[in-house]
Amino acid sequence: MVSVAEAASIILSHPFIPKKEKVRITVSVGRILAESIKADRDLPPFDRVTMDGIAVRSKEFQDGVRIFKISGVQAAGHKRLRLADAASCIEVMTGAMVPEGTDTVVRYEDIEINNGLATVKQETISSGDNIHFQGMDAKENNVLLSPGIKISPAEVVLMASVGKPEVEVYAFPKTAIVSTGDELVPIDQIPLPHQIRQSNSHGLQAALHELKCDADFFRIIDEKVVLEKSLTGILEHHQLIILSGGVSKGKFDYVPQVLESLGVKKLFHQISQKPGKPFWFGVSQNQTVFALPGNPVSTYMCFYRYIKPWLMKSFGADYLFPSATLAQDVSFKPALTYFLQVRIQNEEGRPMAYPDPGGGSGDFVNLKDVNGFLELPAEKSDFKKGEVFPFIPFR
Ligand code: AMP
Ligand code: MG
Repeated sequence: MVSVAEAASIILSHPFIPKKEKVRITVSVGRILAESIKADRDLPPFDRVTMDGIAVRSKEFQDGVRIFKISGVQAAGHKRLRLADAASCIEVMTGAMVPEGTDTVVRYEDIEINNGLATVKQETISSGDNIHFQGMDAKENNVLLSPGIKISPAEVVLMASVGKPEVEVYAFPKTAIVSTGDELVPIDQIPLPHQIRQSNSHGLQAALHELKCDADFFRIIDEKVVLEKSLTGILEHHQLIILSGGVSKGKFDYVPQVLESLGVKKLFHQISQKPGKPFWFGVSQNQTVFALPGNPVSTYMCFYRYIKPWLMKSFGADYLFPSATLAQDVSFKPALTYFLQVRIQNEEGRPMAYPDPGGGSGDFVNLKDVNGFLELPAEKSDFKKGEVFPFIPFR
């Protein structure tokens, strides 16, 4: 049996080597960037007008000129005009190039226009007012985004602005979700009295889908020979295999021994945690195998505590759990890390964790009422209101 910290460290020190794939930028949100994105020109690419108004030479204003004859209109998307007469002005629109010979923009709100003459009402103006200068935000060839960041719509704006309709992101490993158990039936079937629907596997598939990872789906009965045969095929065609069920001490829990017989090297079996103690983890040449206990809350917790960070780490992305403050005293005697189901409520800007442990690791109904798990360390039994612990969110 290993501790939670040891298990996490073993898992994270066995990342997979991701391939890269190209996707359209609009569907890249949530994916992890696999290339550097550089500015293909200065940003902004020219001195840009930021307010509708008039462009003038500030020196004229400093010399006492207040009335400027309008000598032209500079619209956005049009070639740059030149101020022919220093004492005149050009009307300019947001997004236009600042006309040659001008160095400041006075807003329409600060002028009055009559008969082609603009009168400046402001007391002072300075060179550079209302101008977004070329290269102020980034210079041509600057690296704007580096591999490993999670793409959000803000990054999509950047990629679009530098002319990239497609972007390289890290590809997910070919993934299989495997549920084991004679009692399981597909969810579109009416279970017999002794059967249940294989709800776990759909939860796992959805959790992966949220990360944009597709997964194939398998169900295997609790028969050793069948398990061997099915897992042989699954291992051959997948790099990430997430099993649920069949890893405990039951008579029909064949998963660990079958995986080892198929050449998957066990790196640990059992973590001193509740829920999810029977967790088995192993690797082979090209496969990573997470064999999770079948109890739905265990499966769910283990995915978010171990598998999601492993995926992110494999992509070179940072992945840290936030923390939350325990809102009530909690006592937990066993020498196990306790992943307590909690409901998070923000109070005075602090996330407060209200315990809602539910009816144990089989009670998946309770999951709808909580936001995640608070990780209470094995070394202690009494946890006080106000203490801060890592929080494993799933919503
Ligand atoms: P096991 O880990 O195989 O001993 O299973 C522990 C409990 O989880 C049993 O009550 C199983 O029926 C249940 N279980 C296992 N797999 C699933 C699944 N895919 N969906 C829902 N419950 C499951
Ligand atoms: Mg089972």
